Amino acid sequence: MTSPTAAFPYIPGIRLLHSPGPSNVPKAVLDAMTNQPIDMGDPRVDACIDACEEGLKGLLNAPSAEIFMYAANGHGVWEAIIVNLLAPGQKVLIPGTGHFSDSWALMAEAMGAVVLRTPYHEGYPIDLGAVQEALRADTRHEIVAVFAVHTDTASSTTSDVPALRKAMDETKHPALFVVDVVASLGAVPFEMEKWGVNAVIGASQKGLMVPPGVGFCAADARAMEVCAANPAPRFYWDWLRRRKGPSYSRFCGTAPQNLLFGMQASFGLLAKEGLPNVHARHARLAGAVQAAVQSWSEAGNLQFLCRVPEARSVSVTAVLVKPGIDPELIRKTARDKFQVLIAGGLGPFAGRVFRIGHLGDLNPAMILGCLSGVEAAMQSLGIEVGERGVRSAVEYLARTADK
Ligand SMILES: *Cc1c(COP(=O)(O)O)cnc(C)c1O
Repeated sequence: MTSPTAAFPYIPGIRLLHSPGPSNVPKAVLDAMTNQPIDMGDPRVDACIDACEEGLKGLLNAPSAEIFMYAANGHGVWEAIIVNLLAPGQKVLIPGTGHFSDSWALMAEAMGAVVLRTPYHEGYPIDLGAVQEALRADTRHEIVAVFAVHTDTASSTTSDVPALRKAMDETKHPALFVVDVVASLGAVPFEMEKWGVNAVIGASQKGLMVPPGVGFCAADARAMEVCAANPAPRFYWDWLRRRKGPSYSRFCGTAPQNLLFGMQASFGLLAKEGLPNVHARHARLAGAVQAAVQSWSEAGNLQFLCRVPEARSVSVTAVLVKPGIDPELIRKTARDKFQVLIAGGLGPFAGRVFRIGHLGDLNPAMILGCLSGVEAAMQSLGIEVGERGVRSAVEYLARTADK
């Protein structure tokens, strides 16, 4: 077997990948990854790691943060944050955003933390009042940190990070503020320092346009202090052991060089396009998807999962279908008959939603291809979505063509 697709029929043309991660990988990134690995003592390896760290600091707007990269996916760096900042028995507050806040909470509990949760109200972003209530109730300041998911990829909802910071500040609670930017970094602006975020976690395979396999944490001085005082046993994930030094210590072993070559190339592309343009492109493509979903929804068979228009993510759109309609069949039909790869529902949304990913290396033609494929899939299954879906997206893109 020479390729992962060798056992499957040949498919002419390209398949449109619209999962919210892994996302499309630009050719320049794939090309960079074909370079030979280098002896790990070669200064080229350190230079590549430095470039990736600088790229991440730029995206995060955090010139003073320390960056820790790992050969790991997003779940790996969730664990990294937990062991660096929390000892078993300590408390963390995790505001509900949907499936991803739930999954992070389960992991923290499995590692011995005491997790306080605020409820996720389906279709809505973080409940700031509930966060304040939980912090105010903690008069002894036992909560070490608030772990918030910026864009919850399952509910396709983006919470307002500065508003959450403000809500925390109003309670005068000293908890650290930690944000998961796996699905938002690169797609929307993020101001780690200005917004008062103490630590973040992210991964390579979504807005960063690199294949899965590299996760990272960024930590400010306060988060580093908490880490230094934290007695939790740890080794591979430990920030203190990974500080500075040669590549072998920064990665606790061999660095995933080819992924880093790709990441360095990706930062080059983002710089060439210009970050404000990257963000504007994401907003525009999301607008096209939302225009189509809005029109489809008018026939009554589906609707936005996220009820608050301003909180709808520019990275992914979750579409809730009416009971009796099988979103997995829509997804399978889109994939097998129209070569459009969309995602399904996770956790409580399994069997209730399909999700269209629109982050990373994408352009209007790809979005229109995706929406057409999804619309055609629904039409072929006899699901009434009206005539205006793709048309609305075309009109939106035409109207915003000079933006
Ligand atoms: C994808 C995702 C994760 C998990 O990342 P993996 O690389 O799949 O482990 C965590 N948080 C958010 C918000 C995500 O979108």
